[in-house]
Amino acid sequence: MPDDAPDVSVSGLRKSYGEVWAVDGVDLEIARGEFFTLLGPSGSGKTTTLRLIAGFERPDGGTIQLQGKDVSSLPPYERDVNTVFQDYALFPHMTVRENVEYGLRVGGKYSRDERRRRAVEVLSMVQLDTHGDRKPSQLSGGQRQRVALARAIINRPQALLLDEPLGALDLKLRQELQIELKRIQQELGMTFIYVTHDQDEALTMSNRIAVFNKGKIEQVGTPAEVYEHPSTEFVAGFVGTSNVIDRDGRRVTIRPEKIRLLPVEATDGEPAVIRAAVYLGAITRYVCVLDAGGELAVVQQNLETSSSDVHEMEGRRVRLAWSRVAEFAIKEGT
Ligand code: ADP
Ligand code: MG
Repeated sequence: MPDDAPDVSVSGLRKSYGEVWAVDGVDLEIARGEFFTLLGPSGSGKTTTLRLIAGFERPDGGTIQLQGKDVSSLPPYERDVNTVFQDYALFPHMTVRENVEYGLRVGGKYSRDERRRRAVEVLSMVQLDTHGDRKPSQLSGGQRQRVALARAIINRPQALLLDEPLGALDLKLRQELQIELKRIQQELGMTFIYVTHDQDEALTMSNRIAVFNKGKIEQVGTPAEVYEHPSTEFVAGFVGTSNVIDRDGRRVTIRPEKIRLLPVEATDGEPAVIRAAVYLGAITRYVCVLDAGGELAVVQQNLETSSSDVHEMEGRRVRLAWSRVAEFAIKEGT
């Protein structure tokens, strides 16, 4: 196998349930050690794609390769991948350490000492060294999800598949664990394929993101590429705020934070009226109607503004200025 072969490669993947094409022609090439995210709204085919890669589902068409080897017809246990689900399903009667060791027992080729040594190692990696003797019921939700992760990585699969693993946790804990997951992934140098519908989560953790819509991929790129240069109207709206106007016969998108709100007397920019102003603490969000047609959301950092000022802005005439390099032409909506 050549060194530059992708770690996970998916080609022409299709899967239907009755009339519905859950996955409708998906191609992916994921590099070794990459943190790759499948991002999209509910029902867009992310979970089905992950389950096809894991081998829990059989494709109606297309192939799946792991490290250059076609595994499309192999059962899950013959594919060198593990999956972490949102519902972490730990064994309640086993301790944390036993739950983690269980990840190794399935193969049966490790001695008791070796199992113990490895369990201690991965528990330390997920910062649960001191919790090995507890039962799952004695842990918080975030800690239980760390145990599920430890159990999934203990036998060092080639790739780890994660389906909304943080979905059940509250925002603050989710943000902590996002950073944590990324650190663990980098320490292991393991390929992660991560499913989420949360754009912030995808932007925070990923090397690259595939944006899913109705069983198809609309765009693949780094977080900055997908956010700054969305290639379709769907991506512009799903990853960030849809800010699309028609100018000079083109449909373009401009991110709200790239637009400057200027006083009406300014000599540059396009004339507009503020329709709504919403104070959000660190920033204020304005919706502006352009004289030349179209609406743009504009975000300004609150360097001086306070909450009492912003409503007075509603109805005011302003000018909106942005650099041409902030504008991106996109394809018409699908
Ligand atoms: P996502 O994970 O992006 O929310 P899914 O892959 O779960 O999306 O689902 C994609 C589409 O396939 C949806 O329309 C869903 O209702 C349908 N689907 C998924 N699994 C099944 C199933 N086992 N039986 C019937 N329809 C399914
Ligand atoms: Mg899903």
